[in-house]
Amino acid sequence: MEKLYSLISPRVSSERQVREGHGLESQEQRCRKYSDEKGYIYEKTFPDEGVSGAILDRPAIKQMLQHIDNNPNKKYVVIFDDINRIARDIEVHWAIRKAFTLRGAVVESPNFKFEDTAEGKFIETILAGKSQLDREQNARQVRQKMKARLECGVYCFSAPAGMEYKKTSEHGKLLHVKEPEASLIRNALEGFANDRFLTQLDVLNFCLKNKEKLNGKKINFNFVKRILSEIIYTGYIEFPKWEVKRKKGFHQPLINLETYEKIQAKLKRPEKKLTERDSVEFPLRQLVCCSICGEKMTGSFHKGKHRYYAHYFCTSKNCPAKPRNIPKSFLEGEYKRLLGKIAPESEIIELTQAIAMDVWHKSIIGVKTSEKATEKEIETREAQIEIFIDLIPKATNDLVRTKYESRIEILENEILTIKKQTTPSDYLNCEEAISEVLDFLGTPVDYWEKTNLEGKFMMHNLIFTANPMYNAQNGFGTPEISLPFTIKDAFSNSVSSSVDRTGLEPATSSVQMRRSTR
Ligand SMILES: [Zn+2]
Repeated sequence: MEKLYSLISPRVSSERQVREGHGLESQEQRCRKYSDEKGYIYEKTFPDEGVSGAILDRPAIKQMLQHIDNNPNKKYVVIFDDINRIARDIEVHWAIRKAFTLRGAVVESPNFKFEDTAEGKFIETILAGKSQLDREQNARQVRQKMKARLECGVYCFSAPAGMEYKKTSEHGKLLHVKEPEASLIRNALEGFANDRFLTQLDVLNFCLKNKEKLNGKKINFNFVKRILSEIIYTGYIEFPKWEVKRKKGFHQPLINLETYEKIQAKLKRPEKKLTERDSVEFPLRQLVCCSICGEKMTGSFHKGKHRYYAHYFCTSKNCPAKPRNIPKSFLEGEYKRLLGKIAPESEIIELTQAIAMDVWHKSIIGVKTSEKATEKEIETREAQIEIFIDLIPKATNDLVRTKYESRIEILENEILTIKKQTTPSDYLNCEEAISEVLDFLGTPVDYWEKTNLEGKFMMHNLIFTANPMYNAQNGFGTPEISLPFTIKDAFSNSVSSSVDRTGLEPATSSVQMRRSTR
C-alpha cells in the first residue's frame, strides 16, 4: 500500500476561540489522533493564528502548498479539525480545496467526510455556506453592539494616540487622557489650529522632535493626518459610516470643538506656500500678536499719496488699537530689541559647546581611522593586481590568461567603489553646523539677521512658547519664552540696544574664542 503523509492545519481567528476550547492545540490533538487512527505518517503542523477565515491570503495555507510542492514524490493528506477551519467564506473554501486537489493532496477532517460525488460536493457547499453565514451574522451582531455603544456616547474602537481605555463602573471601558502623550497631541493640534504650526509638515516635525513621548507610535504623515482629523479628541463621537451622528461622548476631551473645526477648515484649504515677496518682506507675519485684541498681526503694503508704505497691522477688523499700522522697519527693530534681551542660559551654551566639540572630535577620529582602513584595503587590492599582472605573461594558455585579466578587472572595480564611498570633506561641514548652532545659541539677534525666513520662523518657535504681544503705546510686553532661554535684563523700555550687547558679552566672546582656535 502507498504511504500517506499527513499535514495538519489548525486555525484560530480570535482569543475567544482559544478560551472556548477551539484553541490550536486541541484542534491539533484531534487531528493527530485522526491521522494515527487512519495510519497516516504525521509530518508537520501549519498553525494559522489570529487569521480570518474570510481571506485566501493565509500564511499557513501558503506554506503548506509550498511544502507539498517541495515534496513531489510524497502523497499528502491535509487534515482540518472541522470544515469551517478551512475557511469561513464559500469562495475561499473552494479556492483552497482546488489548490490542494491540483497538487494531488486529499483534504480530510475527523468531523466531516469529504466526498468527490455530486451529493458530497452539494453538502460541502451548504456547510461552507453555513460557515460564511455564521461569520457574517456574528460580524453584524458585533457591529450592532458597537453601534449601540457609540450611540450611547461610549467610544469602542482602538484608542487614538494620547488616550487609553480604563474600566469605569458606570460605562465599562471608557477612554481617558493618557499623559504625557496627551499634552503633546494637544500642543500639536492647538499649534496647527492657531498657525503656530503653519503646515502639516511643521506638525510632523514637532511630533518627531518629541518622539520619545509618543512611545511605540509610528510618526509619519498618516499619523499627523489621523490626529488632525480625530473628532474623539473633542469629547464628541461621530461615525458617519454607521450613521452615528455627532454627539457628546462620556470620555474626557483633549481639545475643544472650536479648535477641531478650525483644524478641519484649515485642512480643506490648500496649504499656503510662502512666496518670495512674503518671505523677504514681512518675516514677522503671524509671529506677533496685537496686545489690544490678541489677534495675529500681518504685514502688507499700503498705498500712500506718492508711494507704497510697508506696515504691520493686526488682522482683527474692529480692533481699537491706535495707530493700527506699525511701520515695518519700526516693528522689526523692536522685535530685534526684544531678541537682544533674550539669551540662552550661559551654562547651556557651555554645555552645548562641550558636547558638540566632544562629538565632533570623536567623529573626526572615526573618520580618520576609517580613512586608514580604506587606504589599506586599496593597497591590498593594488598588490594583488601587481601579482596578476606578473602572472599574465607566464600563463600557459589563453583560458588562464583570461581568468587573470578578469580578476584584475574585478579588483580595479572594487578599488573604484571604495574610493567612491569615502568623502573626506564631510567633517568640515560638521564643524560648520556646530558653529551655526553656537551662533544662534550665542546671539539670537545675529542669527535672526543672517538666516532666511524658515530659519527665522524656526528660531521664533524655539524661543517663544506664545507669540509676543505688541501695541504701539507700550511696545512688547514680557514674552513667554521656553526653558533654555532667559531674559537678560529687567524688562523695561529704557534699555538701549548697546546695553543689550554688553549683556550678551560672555556668550559672544566664548563663541569667538572657540573660533580663533580653528
Ligand atoms: Zn488688534
